[in-house]
Amino acid sequence: MSAVVEISGLRKSFGEREVLKGIDLAVAQGEVVCVIGPSGSGKSTLLRCVNLLEQPTGGAVSVLGVEVTDPDVDIDRVRTHVGMVFQQFNLFPHRTVLENCTMAQRKVLRRGASEAEEVARRNLEQVGLADRADSHPAQLSGGQQQRVAIARALSMDPALMLFDEPTSALDPELVGDVLSVMRDLAEAGMTMIVVTHEMAFAREVADRVVFMDDGQIVEQGSPDHVIGNPGEERTRTFLARVL
Ligand code: ADP
Ligand code: MG
Repeated sequence: MSAVVEISGLRKSFGEREVLKGIDLAVAQGEVVCVIGPSGSGKSTLLRCVNLLEQPTGGAVSVLGVEVTDPDVDIDRVRTHVGMVFQQFNLFPHRTVLENCTMAQRKVLRRGASEAEEVARRNLEQVGLADRADSHPAQLSGGQQQRVAIARALSMDPALMLFDEPTSALDPELVGDVLSVMRDLAEAGMTMIVVTHEMAFAREVADRVVFMDDGQIVEQGSPDHVIGNPGEERTRTFLARVL
């Protein structure tokens, strides 16, 4: 299996402070990797380095075989292959759900209106919101807004989806619907890196769980190993706090 993302020796400093201290991680086509770890351990920074929302200070990141850290690379092109879903949904409040899902297709992929709309409607259907295409974000619950954000990302036909704590801002009763959409996506074969505190989800859906602490990968392996029977004391300490 070929790697969709390949991260090697990745380092990132903010000023004097090094928050990623040499990360090596390759994610294969169709693989679902869940990243867990304490707040401040560098999980978001790791995702943000994959699509260059942060510029790494060392090491290399390749997406689909293209080294994104190469200064000659057209990063906008690389980004079109990488969908990202944040804790805050970042929808455009003055645009309808449908428009939120068509804008980047039109602008970045230069799709025509009818094709963009067709793709958007198909993805809204997939996240269970086909009937809300004409709503505005404020008319939707947080969970529905997050599902729109997922449909918007999917509408760009990404090769890879990055999720940064997608359910952390949601009321507890809305978390399940979002996780269920993500589970469907995983089952459909999407390559995904998911930063999450939802251990039950990680245990069920992840092919691999990566535990990060203090800018390093401390331990990784199957969910049964890392969550069920961790080998490292730091992993056990973390799990004791969140489980
Ligand atoms: P996590 O997602 O695991 O909670 P982050 O990647 O957000 O961790 O942050 C890792 C560390 O990097 C934290 O100490 C955070 O304060 C610091 N950090 C993140 N972004 C910035 C930034 N833009 N400027 C300075 N420090 C940052
Ligand atoms: Mg974070």
